[in-house]
Amino acid sequence: MHHIEQVYINGEFVTPHGTERFDLYNPATARVIGQVRLADAVDGERAIAAASAAFPAWSKTTKQVRIAALQRMHAAVAARHDDLLEAVVEEYGAPASRSAWMASYPAEVIAQAIVALEAFEFTTVAGAARVEMTPLGVAGLITPWNSDAGFICGKLAAALAAGCTAVIKPSEMSALQTQIVTEALHAADLPPGVFNIVTGRGDTVGETISRHPHVAKISFTGSTRTGKAILRKAAENFTRVTLELGGKSPTLILDDVDIKQAIPLAVQAGLMNSGQACVAGTRILVPQSRKAEFEQALAQAIAAVKSGDPRDAKTVVGPMVSERQWQRVQGYIQKGLAEGARMLAGGVGRPEGTRDGWFVRPTLFTDVHNQMAIARDEIFGPVLCVITYRDEAEAIAIANDTDYGLSALVLGGDSGRARCVAQQIHAGRVLVNTLTHEPKAPFGGFKHSGVGREMGAWGISAFMEPKTILG
Ligand code: NAD
Repeated sequence: MHHIEQVYINGEFVTPHGTERFDLYNPATARVIGQVRLADAVDGERAIAAASAAFPAWSKTTKQVRIAALQRMHAAVAARHDDLLEAVVEEYGAPASRSAWMASYPAEVIAQAIVALEAFEFTTVAGAARVEMTPLGVAGLITPWNSDAGFICGKLAAALAAGCTAVIKPSEMSALQTQIVTEALHAADLPPGVFNIVTGRGDTVGETISRHPHVAKISFTGSTRTGKAILRKAAENFTRVTLELGGKSPTLILDDVDIKQAIPLAVQAGLMNSGQACVAGTRILVPQSRKAEFEQALAQAIAAVKSGDPRDAKTVVGPMVSERQWQRVQGYIQKGLAEGARMLAGGVGRPEGTRDGWFVRPTLFTDVHNQMAIARDEIFGPVLCVITYRDEAEAIAIANDTDYGLSALVLGGDSGRARCVAQQIHAGRVLVNTLTHEPKAPFGGFKHSGVGREMGAWGISAFMEPKTILG
């Protein structure tokens, strides 16, 4: 059993004021594997006070000092790779394909922030004026459970690069991963108070951070619903916000595609992170003229996906993170059937050969129209829809007929044509015949998928305000 009894405030591991114990689970067995003592509003206040006290000195540090600090963070987080790998399998149920990335990305994202900071221009000239990029102040960083260490390290590295100090409120469901990252960051020997990590509930610590007048910036990754609530609260103090929210991304397959190349990309896009990915391509748009061919190939591919024990090397889809998430996925599969969609693979219940864990069957529906709940709501599980279109214009219209706008994938034989389609899709990121990521480019959503951008120079600027100096 793991027991996490302390939070991290002002450069020290301290016993929180909060006394609530929260159970931690292994989603592959549905058994309790530990407990975390949660921070409360008082701890949130203390962390904000520590970050406020550290801000004047940190905001005046040179680029070289910040780069050196980020390099120490990078080395310290990279040194805990193996511990993180074990934690993401035990606490999150990430299968091999995902866990390797989840253990290495936290250090990588710090390295990417170093590259961005090295090139960052803090002072520029605009006509007769000098424009100085000025750090905002204390940043509240609120993160979800589906990539705990990656989000903590990415947001913190950008905030510190900008000259902000930080209070981090990770998900209460990822306390083992958070503990390892916190120990690593402590070993990086930053000045006390520059970053503080208080694991607690959203409605206590999260609320305290989003309402607090001494928090100048909130960077939040999580659900659209929580993002909206944070935006409302932030209005009170004009707190700046970056919101990275949900998605219902289209995978638009053009009629000239090579089906053999398209299917693996579409399946991977739809099922990434066991379907618990904000960018997952869950609406697969196929030409009406090739419907039967795509249905057959997609059904075969999804039925062949192994869902089960994350420690089995063949597993592609691991368990859902919690019983609540498992119920949510079951509910949407039932809803799809009730709405009249036709099931081509998967279904309700657990996959064969699995028992107690929160395992689900990767599920594919066809005869879906874009107004069905399974086509509109972010399910956050491996449930995919096939939607047909008659021509390119209709395909683009369906792709854009969503509240979300985080990501999209266009697959086509003629890459010039596919890029032209990509330009007409309303999303923060459109991938054409690839699933690769570019960390130097901005990441974020249109419409209900969020506000603002992370990564690269955009990510650092998000923690700053331009100040114009004349004369
Ligand atoms: P969530 O919104 O429930 O929680 C996210 C974080 O916000 C947690 O730390 C939670 O404790 C906190 N929180 C909850 N209520 C709060 C409140 N009232 N005030 C302040 N903080 C509060 O989301 P989740 O279930 O942890 O994560 C899944 C969601 O995250 C999905 O919708 C997914 O699409 C989204 N997500 C988005 C991205 C992206 O980059 N766009 C990436 C990953 C996940």
